[in-house]
Amino acid sequence: MNTSQQPGLPEQAGGKGGLVTVDLDALAANYRTLAALAAPAACAAVVKANAYGLGLAPASRALAAAGCRHFFVANLDEGEALRQVLPEATIYVLNGISSIACGRRMLAAGLVPVINSLAQLDAWSALQPGKPCVLHIDTGMNRLGMSAAEVAMLGADSGRLARLQIACVMTHLACADEPARPDNARQLERFHALRSKLPEAPTSIANSAGVLLGDEFHGDLVRPGIGLYGGAPAPGRDVALREVVALFGHVLQIREVSAPASVGYGATWSVEPPARLATLGLGYADGYPRVLGNVASALVGDQRVPVVGRVSMDSLIVDISTLPEGMLQPGDRVQLLGGGLSLEEVAGWAGTISYELLTGLGRRLEWCYSGDSGASA
Ligand SMILES: *Cc1c(COP(=O)(O)O)cnc(C)c1O
Repeated sequence: MNTSQQPGLPEQAGGKGGLVTVDLDALAANYRTLAALAAPAACAAVVKANAYGLGLAPASRALAAAGCRHFFVANLDEGEALRQVLPEATIYVLNGISSIACGRRMLAAGLVPVINSLAQLDAWSALQPGKPCVLHIDTGMNRLGMSAAEVAMLGADSGRLARLQIACVMTHLACADEPARPDNARQLERFHALRSKLPEAPTSIANSAGVLLGDEFHGDLVRPGIGLYGGAPAPGRDVALREVVALFGHVLQIREVSAPASVGYGATWSVEPPARLATLGLGYADGYPRVLGNVASALVGDQRVPVVGRVSMDSLIVDISTLPEGMLQPGDRVQLLGGGLSLEEVAGWAGTISYELLTGLGRRLEWCYSGDSGASA
């Protein structure tokens, strides 16, 4: 028996203020669901930005175990990191090659650049003719990819074409999450018109939302990201994707309010007695957006409680006056994301999207991976 323990403190003291759980079986199931929707097209996984913040190695291993062979990352460093995890996978680098040195490292790591301009194309061909690359054609996003003029120039240049091995031609949709927008069909039409100027090659068009737009958007390889991680690809579209991520804070302190009082920095919230407040050891430094103060709800069991006052760097406060006394104790968990709190709902409260919420989840949190799919993670 530990006699030095202070009375009233829990036996198990967690050193971390917040906990993220990542369900790798759900991730694998989401991959299989999207792959089935896209079949006979092959299904890649977009694992840029540390697999949308969830951990590149465990997420990629789970996806590979679910049958994924094609992976998209944003840049060279991510590609090299993924190569260490998956020696056999085909890895595409969306940002392309930014320098000759970058191209050399891609060759060394066996990465496939997504070529976004003729300058990138020439650099790649010069390094080692005949190494596979993806040609990205811009069809209306105006972010990355070759212009119509560049595609026409390339199509007429047999010398350049002879030095190329086109693994795939791709484009990216600007409005796939809004199926009613005519932009989608317009981009598809432009894509086919432009790629007809190039040698026949496999095609890739769809992100997660694009997978739901129908067969003509699938091409030969789809590229979902957010749907794998449990985000809804498009509002109102019903796809059976499972929740992957949940976020919890631990109660640091519970406070009985016996006189009218204000809460947190700036005293932006007032409470009338009798009230009970719980302070959780997780804040905006952990990726819980500061704008959620006085806006969001948290979950204790299945009961919603409001986040009151401003969110601090390392803590936030919930009003638990509606809960039975004693229901919540120091050390207990309060859920901030997942369960009844979908990524879309919480992101919406913060005026952002699921992508930004996920990629912002902090490294200071305790990350806990469950499921057989990445057991060796
Ligand atoms: C990020 C990205 C994707 C994945 O998009 P989701 O909306 O997350 O499915 C696909 N293709 C490209 C080019 C991307 O940049």
